[in-house]
Amino acid sequence: MLNQHLNMINSHDGRLRSYQSAIENHPDGVLILDRDGRCRELNPAVSELTGYTLEEFCQKKLSFLILPQDLEKTRNHIQLALRGIPQRYDMTIIHKSGLPLHIQMTNVPIILNHEVAGVFCIGRDITARKQLEEQQRSVKQQLESFIENNVDPILMVREDGKVLRVNESFVNTFGWKANEFVGMNVFDLHLIPDEKKGEFEELAREMRAGNKIIGKETVRLRKDGGRMNVLLSSSPILDEKGEVTGWSVTLRDITEKKKSEELLLQEEKLLVAGQLAAGVAHEIRNPLTALKGFVQLMEKEKSYNEQYLGIMLEELKRIELITNELLMLSKPQQSQFVHKNLIGILQEVIALLGAQTIMNNIILLTDFETGSIQVHCDRNQLKQVFINFIKNAIEAMPGGGNLRIQVRKQGAYAVIRFIDEGCGIPQEQLAMLGQPFFTTKEKGTGLGLMVSRRIIENHHGTLNISSEIGVGTTMEIFFPVC
Ligand code: ADP
Ligand code: MG
Repeated sequence: MLNQHLNMINSHDGRLRSYQSAIENHPDGVLILDRDGRCRELNPAVSELTGYTLEEFCQKKLSFLILPQDLEKTRNHIQLALRGIPQRYDMTIIHKSGLPLHIQMTNVPIILNHEVAGVFCIGRDITARKQLEEQQRSVKQQLESFIENNVDPILMVREDGKVLRVNESFVNTFGWKANEFVGMNVFDLHLIPDEKKGEFEELAREMRAGNKIIGKETVRLRKDGGRMNVLLSSSPILDEKGEVTGWSVTLRDITEKKKSEELLLQEEKLLVAGQLAAGVAHEIRNPLTALKGFVQLMEKEKSYNEQYLGIMLEELKRIELITNELLMLSKPQQSQFVHKNLIGILQEVIALLGAQTIMNNIILLTDFETGSIQVHCDRNQLKQVFINFIKNAIEAMPGGGNLRIQVRKQGAYAVIRFIDEGCGIPQEQLAMLGQPFFTTKEKGTGLGLMVSRRIIENHHGTLNISSEIGVGTTMEIFFPVC
């Protein structure tokens, strides 16, 4: 059939044979329309494409094949091709099975003797490509919506630090407008407080190595300079080849959470202070009795005694130390990280708790490394931790016993162990320790361990708890030394 028609179009053309073969074997469906738009010839690929045999195809009008919405458009394109202007467009046809097929259609005018004799219609199935595009578009839309409508501020940065985009939550939280931020270098923006620049360098190194960062607590600045506690998470953005081209960074605002944590920490301190008050009163009664005795003695002797004064000064110093410790517990303190001697801190805590241990028949055995061990810490917070552990140990030994406190240096770490001979902790409770309000005591708060763990984490330390029923419990803390 094709043969005949091409003969009809131009029986003189010598190249005809090769054209014929090209059309016959063309992988795309090829139709030849005559000047009136009627189908004159078609190749086997049309049959493959549409599901109709060539005979079936020839018996039908072309319009049956085209999606009704595309009919008008297709007619216009063919009209233009019949006027000599090649056309390319996408259209939808209906396969014999009833399924729609996306076709990329090319209409090429057949020009013979300066006249349009017909049109080649070359249809290529692009359904798979369309579906892929559709899928990609839908994934992209989902991602877009996920980023844009996320309640957490998100920014996307290129590998060199240039900001690619920020979402609405970022704009609302940090106060920068998108156009003030996008295109800028993240290093030039006042987002990172000076004291966090070193930490940021470290994070950036991690990120460049292709690692994710999940939930790093840090501080970022708003446009107005206000500080915000944030939980930073970051994951690399990869290109098609799997190479890192940038990062998406989420900065969850945890300022409120931090505030309530600090309140809880303060609350716990106050409770402990209240619980210790009886012991402290007891502790200062003894030196007070001594002081009173010496004063009465000097009054009676009506003379001034150098020796008494020395002892009195010592006793006063002890009272001062203990009351200061108690005050430290009950007053809110601005957190202050400095280098301090760990052993000194422990000794001050022991002074405060001395009476408490004696009243409970506890023998305190200290086993400290000689010399000092410097750690970068907030002195008051560490005291809070040590008081918690000593109190817990005392409470675990209602009948009295030994409490050993060890301090060792192990490589880059200081290890502090509180080893008691108390009741121990059952296996099933070990996992629950440190959950707020988990307590087995009638008057317990269940906050001590939680607060202590939090403080230890803030000091980049770790806590290990090991315990055996009826034998005792060991609380082991590691702190990096300076
Ligand atoms: P609280 O002391 O108010 O109960 P904590 O958070 O300090 O709260 O401790 C939680 C629980 O952990 C305690 O109730 C107790 O059951 C257990 N625990 C903590 N330390 C010890 C210890 N040294 N020996 C035995 N049990 C302990
Ligand atoms: Mg406790």
